[in-house]
Amino acid sequence: MAYAAVPFRQFVIKVHSRCDLACDHCYMYESADQSWRMRPRVLSLENAALIGERVARHALAHGLDSVRYVLHGGEPLLAGASHLGAVIEQLRRPLDGVAAVDLRIHTNGVLLDREFCDLFAAHDVSVGVSLDGDRAANDRHRRYADGRTSHPRVLDALALLRQSEYRRLYAGILCTIDIANDPVAVYEALKIEEPPRIDLLLPHATWDTPPPRPLAPDSGLPMPTAYADWLIRIYERWTLDGRPFGIRIFDSIASLLAGGPSLTEAIGLEPSDLLVIETDGLIEQVDSLKIAFDGAPATGLSVSNDDLDAAAKHPGVASRRQGLDGLSAQCRACPVVEVCGGGLYPHRYRSGSEFDNPSVYCADLLHLIEYVKAEQVAASAGAARDLVAVSASSLAELGSGFGGAAAVAELVQAQASVNRLLLAEAGTRAADRSVYARAAWQALVALDADAPAALASALAHPYFRAWAAKTIAGTADPAVAGHLAAFAVTAASRAGSEAEFDIPVRGGAVSLPGLGRLLVGGGTASVRVGTAPGALSFSVGGARWTVPTDAAVGSSAAASEDRWRPAVALASDGFTVRIEDTDPERDCHQWPVAESLSEADRAAWRDRFDGAWRLILRDHAAYAPGLAAGLTTITPLVARPDGHEVSAAARHAFGAVGAALPDRADRLALLLVHEFQHVKLGAVLDLYDLYDESDSRLYYAAWRDDPRPLEGLLQGTYAHVAVTDFWRVRRQLDTGPDAEAAEIQFARWRIQTAEAVDTLAASGSLTPTGREFVEGMRATLGPWLDESVSSSAEAAAGLRARQHRHAAAI
Ligand code: SF4
Repeated sequence: MAYAAVPFRQFVIKVHSRCDLACDHCYMYESADQSWRMRPRVLSLENAALIGERVARHALAHGLDSVRYVLHGGEPLLAGASHLGAVIEQLRRPLDGVAAVDLRIHTNGVLLDREFCDLFAAHDVSVGVSLDGDRAANDRHRRYADGRTSHPRVLDALALLRQSEYRRLYAGILCTIDIANDPVAVYEALKIEEPPRIDLLLPHATWDTPPPRPLAPDSGLPMPTAYADWLIRIYERWTLDGRPFGIRIFDSIASLLAGGPSLTEAIGLEPSDLLVIETDGLIEQVDSLKIAFDGAPATGLSVSNDDLDAAAKHPGVASRRQGLDGLSAQCRACPVVEVCGGGLYPHRYRSGSEFDNPSVYCADLLHLIEYVKAEQVAASAGAARDLVAVSASSLAELGSGFGGAAAVAELVQAQASVNRLLLAEAGTRAADRSVYARAAWQALVALDADAPAALASALAHPYFRAWAAKTIAGTADPAVAGHLAAFAVTAASRAGSEAEFDIPVRGGAVSLPGLGRLLVGGGTASVRVGTAPGALSFSVGGARWTVPTDAAVGSSAAASEDRWRPAVALASDGFTVRIEDTDPERDCHQWPVAESLSEADRAAWRDRFDGAWRLILRDHAAYAPGLAAGLTTITPLVARPDGHEVSAAARHAFGAVGAALPDRADRLALLLVHEFQHVKLGAVLDLYDLYDESDSRLYYAAWRDDPRPLEGLLQGTYAHVAVTDFWRVRRQLDTGPDAEAAEIQFARWRIQTAEAVDTLAASGSLTPTGREFVEGMRATLGPWLDESVSSSAEAAAGLRARQHRHAAAI
């Protein structure tokens, strides 16, 4: 990766260079770098405007959809509410229409009052507060210059942030570790403050000024893993508690171990995307470098003279963007380097070799990472046990290519358990990235206790999982993370709870999963949505109105306000599915999704669906119970200009089938049956290993022009068992040219599906369960191979098969 090309996304803005506390562990005033003495106390509005311009230009040049400002100090609240508000305006204004702005502030909390909280509420500023534990722990370092404690005032600040009107602003607590404090006492003291997240920060240290370590009683030597041991005590307690909030260092290790992103600069190999801008407009490297030597963070650049891209060329910045290549030889050879990344850059410093060393916390990091890894392995074994499995008889039924109501209902239950696991992971991550998600996450935790069925119903929306997968993978867009609030509305509404949520506007609208969509238009960042028994209320700007939720889904009576459109349903013979044409996460079906349907389009879908479902009930009845039990959603896709049919299922969207509206009901019936096979098999694959994932070979597939990996071949084969069956029935029941076409289709697909079964079986990569599953398909196909087919259909089918294989050339 060309790290120089990685844009900066996070900007720590020093709004005040002094502090009202005199914490003796502060890197700002107590470390080697004393440059703060020369800086203006307050960031001027002129410099704030320059910063805003530079950041906006940078966002435009790199196509960034969001940036993060962290207002910092010294103590940023010393700037005063009025000046801080003006600074925020200057920082934000140039980014209007360019990129979303995620605003945060880190404060010691002693000045935090309602005036500041109102300001932060108006600007959606998340607030992180420093607190080192209980009073004894906090007083160890965090005192005023005259020795007075800061503890009571910090608790007041946290109490204010817990009040309902400010709760969404509460980002969490930053706690600097002192291993002289009892870790469990620290944890319990922080837990009482109900933080959404805790940052446990290793005290800044270098090889020249190493961290204090107790001596081991046996050897008399400093204990090399004292910090890891301290953290592990908290990890154990936090796990016992059911992990009621995120702890960034643990969550980051877990994420990195799973191949995800780090949530902190303290570990991981990701290139740094953070710059610091001081009160005088000078651009600096990461602040904690102040501990290394006087002037260590300086770049010599400033927002008055220099583009932000210039900072990427600075050797100090560049060295933090080189991934593995930027690490010491010892780190490069380390078994946990992909997770540790050499630790926080300043912690590697030693006079002489400078940063070409492992972290001064090396032994701690290694021990902690290996501990979390072992815990994660044990937890995944537990999670696998927690997943609801399907019974052996249902698995066999599904393997045969069918699956009735009971078997599919078991898959639905299994997916509910998958969704719960995903919510735990994605919810905490979203809460870390979005003020909207933070409040929603706490509401969802409460709903889990009070109304679990309503929560499960909201999570059963097919695109919850698509959203969760994106969030766990580390989406940078805070509006995506904030979409958790929309699921909270759905859950609260179905629980009949009275609650209010702020939901970020995406694409000019707010989509409430399974409930409907509110058109908002540009220029509005968020909408407040209230839930109450039987009703939803919306507040946008100064307007507020209410719509009923008990109106039949899709009823025009429910569209009491032009901007609100309730979810649209298709119904036929007692079976109802939702048309999903607004959810922002629905675009996961390989093909472009259709925009919100017109009334004429909806009428066409209703007509076609009615015909398709009646055909399935009458002629393909073996598939109807499974479909009725598991198909909840049809997502319209864009039709191809060449007229080829378009349909797809998505692994992360259980219960949904995507399709462009075909011109005949029987074609839609085939698409539904075909795609629901993929839905079922995807759910089976969540529960069972059917094949060896290390098989990287590509295989010929008769239904594709490109060769497929083993899972693709398995998916296609499973779908084509049903496709073969569909044509088998149609050739018997249709008449005229339709029957002749069906005969050829049957003749072709029974042979080519059977060949695909042979390929799967011969791959040598199926697990024992996979072999049974595939043999189930073979058993279903067997009798169909014995059915007589006209010689002309056989010949036409053979020709098509040969032509395809020749064209695919594999
Ligand atoms: S554990 Fe030590 S050697 Fe390994 S990457 Fe981290 S700092 Fe480097």
